[in-house]
This record gives sequence, structure tokens and C-alpha cells, in this order.
Amino acid sequence: MKLVFLGPPGAGKGTLAVKATVLLKAPHISTGNIFREAIAAGSPLGVKVKAIIDAGKLVDDGTTIELTRERLGQGDVKDSFILDGFPRTIAQAEALAGFSNIDRVINFDVPDSVVIERLSGRLVCRKCGFNWHKTFNPPEKAGVCGKCGGEIYTREDDRAEAVKKRLDIYREQTAPLIGYYREKGLLTDIDARPQVDAIL
Ligand code: ADP
Ligand code: ZN
Repeated sequence: MKLVFLGPPGAGKGTLAVKATVLLKAPHISTGNIFREAIAAGSPLGVKVKAIIDAGKLVDDGTTIELTRERLGQGDVKDSFILDGFPRTIAQAEALAGFSNIDRVINFDVPDSVVIERLSGRLVCRKCGFNWHKTFNPPEKAGVCGKCGGEIYTREDDRAEAVKKRLDIYREQTAPLIGYYREKGLLTDIDARPQVDAIL
């Protein structure tokens, strides 16, 4: 099964993907995670995208498409994957159609108020990527991931200004993908208001 998770930042795509990847035996591919790993490693890609990501803007289509094309060409994702955070523009969706056949696009439907509440309290593990939340799902020991012992931190792009920017960009550039995939008969809507733990 080849799935795309579509939705605004903070909709719970990554959290649900981490759970679904085990059940479906489908590797989880998050372009955001790939970029963050590149930044942490200080690779040329990381150096190129750091300022863009910290500001909450989108990395250019050319770079993102190439990276995804390359990742989807690897053997472990020949039959199934969960693509989380790609495509985010119509140009990316059209490029994706040229190198992969998607079975289903899951649209995470959630109001802005919930997104802002979630992102403003989000804490991320530097090591395993797990998402904690200051109020809804705090780690037992402050600053330490309860899953892997890694260090947890607040993403630069989860600051209020960057969150607003990401929501604006989502509305302008990513939300049109809902109609694009609905027309192709590929879209399934889910109500992403409940916490992911209540969904799966
Ligand atoms: P979110 O929590 O906003 O869903 P992600 O972890 O998916 O965040 O992505 C973090 C950042 O990485 C985005 O704000 C953007 O700068 C960059 N990024 C990730 N995927 C893409 C993409 N498909 N196109 C352009 N930029 C991307
Ligand atoms: Zn961890």
C-alpha cells in the first residue's frame, strides 16, 4: 500500500505515521525528518535548507522532488510506504505521479485552533523523532525522551511566528492538493481533531 498523509502542520501526520508504519509494514518517509537529519549532520543539503526551514517556509520544489524521487527509488519502498509531508505543492504532486503510483491519500482534517495549540506545546526527540507535548503528553522526565532516552527540544519552526507562516503557506500552496486528489478519486478524509492515541 502506497499512502500519502496530507494535512496542515500539527495535524498528527507524523505521529500517526509512526504507529501505522508498524501495522502496515510500510516504511515511513518524512521529508521534514530527512531535512532535519541533514541539518543535524551538517551536510550540504542541511546547510542549504536550515534557514528556510527555521523560518517556516517551504524548501524549493526542485530540491524536495529530487530528494523524494531518490528515496522512493530504494528497494525497501518498492511495494509500500507512507509518505508524510510530500507532496506539499501541485508541482510536487505532478512530479510524484511521474515516479510513483499512489494508492490512497489520507487528508487530515483539523481546525487552525487545534493546530496552534498542538504546535505551540510540541516537543520533539532529537534521536528518535517522537513527538511529545508540554500539556497533552509530557515526558516523565523533563527534557528526556521516554521512548529512547534522547534529548527533547522545541523545533525552531514551532515558534509562534513560524507557525503562522506555515499555516499561511499550507493554505496557499498545500490545501489545493485536497481538490487535486479528490478529483482523482484518491482522497480519504479523516477527522484529525482527536489525539492520535484515540485514532489508532
Ligand atoms: P510539519 O510539522 O510542518 O508537517 P515537517 O516536519 O513535515 O513539518 O516539515 C518541516 C519543514 O521541512 C517544512 O516546514 C518545510 O520547510 C520543509 N519541508 C518538508 N517537506 C517539504 C516539502 N514537501 N516541500 C517543501 N518543504 C518541505
Ligand atoms: Zn526518542
